[in-house]
Amino acid sequence: MRGLIAVSTLLAASLAFPSFNQSIRVARQAKPNKAWPNALIPIGFRSDYPQAWRNTLREGIKLWTSTTCVRFRENDVTSKDRVEVYDGGQCSSDVGRSGGKQTFSFGNGCQGVSTAGHELGHAIGLHHMQVRPDRDQYVTINKNNIHPGAYDINFGIDRDTNTMGVPYDYSSLLHYGPYHFGQEGKPGMVPRDSRFKYSMGGIYPSFYDVMRANKVYNCAAKCTGTGPRCLNNGVRDVNNCDQCFCPLGYGGKDCGGKPAGATVVTATSAEQKFATTIGQPSDPQSIDYKIKHLVINAPAGKRVQLKVTYFWVSFALPCSYGFIEIYTKTDTRTGAARLCKTEWLDPSYTSDGSRMYVRMASRYMQSNFQLTYKAV
Ligand SMILES: [Zn+2]
Repeated sequence: MRGLIAVSTLLAASLAFPSFNQSIRVARQAKPNKAWPNALIPIGFRSDYPQAWRNTLREGIKLWTSTTCVRFRENDVTSKDRVEVYDGGQCSSDVGRSGGKQTFSFGNGCQGVSTAGHELGHAIGLHHMQVRPDRDQYVTINKNNIHPGAYDINFGIDRDTNTMGVPYDYSSLLHYGPYHFGQEGKPGMVPRDSRFKYSMGGIYPSFYDVMRANKVYNCAAKCTGTGPRCLNNGVRDVNNCDQCFCPLGYGGKDCGGKPAGATVVTATSAEQKFATTIGQPSDPQSIDYKIKHLVINAPAGKRVQLKVTYFWVSFALPCSYGFIEIYTKTDTRTGAARLCKTEWLDPSYTSDGSRMYVRMASRYMQSNFQLTYKAV
């Protein structure tokens, strides 16, 4: 499988919109039953591996250990089966445990926490969302727009991929964006749900990514006895059996509350304004996002109507420097599209229930958001 490295190095030069999230991510094809024993992944760095990149990977590891029962044993350079991190000039990982020492390349252009989380998701055993056997119901692949040589590895349907009983998820961290491996700026993959046209793929493990990993490792078995009653589609937290693990936009012990740090406002029939900024104009590109959460509650029986009156984020597809996500559905498990251009906005957004969640993020310069909201 060494040939893949030559292929992807070649592809690195062809990316139309270079950014962390656009960098090369190669996963070798999965075979079934690649889970690591005891949900423990031994991982070691080559001795010359840069310290800063180790720290980025540690942030990526936290994305998974804080949400699943998977653990990584760092600095393990002796286990027979283990992951060895090195700079191979690309971002790539085997899917699951291959047996023996398997390499994990995390080099120049990979240095974002999201990319670390994506590759570590592969190491855990998760394959790309877009290779699921049912993917043609959700995305159209324009093979002619995909760089020759990249199709089979990254877009070919893998019949051995187990969906683990979760729905197809555009917001998966393991989903490619529309322009990954595209040629001349043409999209290689178009979602059937056009809201995700510019921004398939998530920045962190999605709710269903977490469910997939927890099912592969049977993490629910860690919690016995009666669990808490979880609201808003939350599930028992495998890292704290007395609490719930919440979909985006919800928080608290039973997911009946707000996300940590969220601003909560109440909508009335009169239009009200909300404005915020994230970061400073001189902020350099950061490896991770600064995020602001907004929860808007309307009186019972009413809905929330939101308009984005102004916003500016540094633009890079797939909205990888900054974005706004507007969750109109009460069920937030399948995510919302990331938006980073004014012209992609709808004139207004209306919630399906009495609550709306908005996520705003930035990791380069200053992002500005101005909204109005009212109960309708
Ligand atoms: Zn990948």
